Amino acid sequence: MTEVDTRTNLLDLDRTGLEHFFADTLGEKRFRAQQVMKWMYHRHVTDFGQMTDLGKELRGKLEQHAVVLPPNTMFEKPSTDGTHKWLLGMDGGNAIESVFIPDKGRGTLCVSSQVGCGLNCTFCSTGTQGFNRNLSTAEIIGQVWVAAKHLGNVPHHQRKLTNVVMMGMGEPLLNFDNVVRAMSLMRDDNGFGLANKRVTLSTAGLVPMIDKLSEVSDVSLAVSLHAPFDELRTQLVPLNKKYPIAELMDACVRYAMRKPRTSITFEYTMMKGINDQPEHARGLVKLMRRIDAQVQRANTAKVNLIPFNPFPGTRYERSDDSDIRDFQTILLENQVLTMVRRTRGDDIDAACGQLKGQVMDRTRRQAEFNRKLQADGLSDAAA
Ligand code: SAH
Repeated sequence: MTEVDTRTNLLDLDRTGLEHFFADTLGEKRFRAQQVMKWMYHRHVTDFGQMTDLGKELRGKLEQHAVVLPPNTMFEKPSTDGTHKWLLGMDGGNAIESVFIPDKGRGTLCVSSQVGCGLNCTFCSTGTQGFNRNLSTAEIIGQVWVAAKHLGNVPHHQRKLTNVVMMGMGEPLLNFDNVVRAMSLMRDDNGFGLANKRVTLSTAGLVPMIDKLSEVSDVSLAVSLHAPFDELRTQLVPLNKKYPIAELMDACVRYAMRKPRTSITFEYTMMKGINDQPEHARGLVKLMRRIDAQVQRANTAKVNLIPFNPFPGTRYERSDDSDIRDFQTILLENQVLTMVRRTRGDDIDAACGQLKGQVMDRTRRQAEFNRKLQADGLSDAAA
């Protein structure tokens, strides 16, 4: 018989949680939390025996009640352009992916929040794989831990990992508590110490959760828009049936009003003949200008154009470069800040929308998940 390990994985706790753990479970001083965090996140030490500024007795107590258990790397793959992808093993035969993308002066890690995804966006390969489960806080922050260790991250000085985007597999706002806790560790000085604006959460548009996020966190917001008209957006992002564009734009305005100086990035995947025509660009201009006008701040709404990345079995194709350029020109001519995201890591299937991991989809799980969404009044569009 295998013994069940009931010890707490300290990577599951944010700073407050860890302080409670020291005070309530171990009967120790709260400041120990910060000491242990520095060992875990700055020096990548997982063995309590090596945490030399803790007394022997405390180290013994920790060994009895706690573990530091990062995800296990099953496979990793560098790309010719400097991009690096990890396949991390989760229980039950599942695996998720995270990707590091170095660029001039910064390094961005793209982090997953769920095993698979329940939203079924038709142009995303993760969406075609079904949903298995939410990732724990340890599994989310563990992705940063694995990458930072690999990159030899030094806090605050010459760091290679400077940004985190929650744009890997899954919908982060449907795993709210674990994602918020992990993002707080990314920003904590005793954690990875990233600035608020360097941690970005990307959502397909769960309106009530965007409001909830604005109450508890100051991270940057990215919204996957992909179409300026409801009928088309519902085809691409079925969640749009539940939260149509007008409601989503209102939520973005509320988010921006609560966060002075913050901009919101709208992601727009460019698919040939689907959403890449001048009429779409003009529709997008209207939406973006309206946000800036309502928030009364220029450049609150920014657009990121993402050339579609194909995957086996997809019915979509990438827009022609000339169409992407023309589309961008229309936006720029109308004072909408617009970038075209360079495709990175596509030789190792690490580009946006290509992350697959290994998802043991269980239809029952998917049905249960959809029921829960409905019970929470969140979605019937995920079905
Ligand atoms: N569920 C969240 C985060 C994951 S998707 C969200 O929807 O925002 C991260 C980004 O990758 C999104 O903007 C998504 O639309 C984009 N993406 C998905 N599939 C893609 C593909 N095949 N090609 C290019 N971008 C894609």
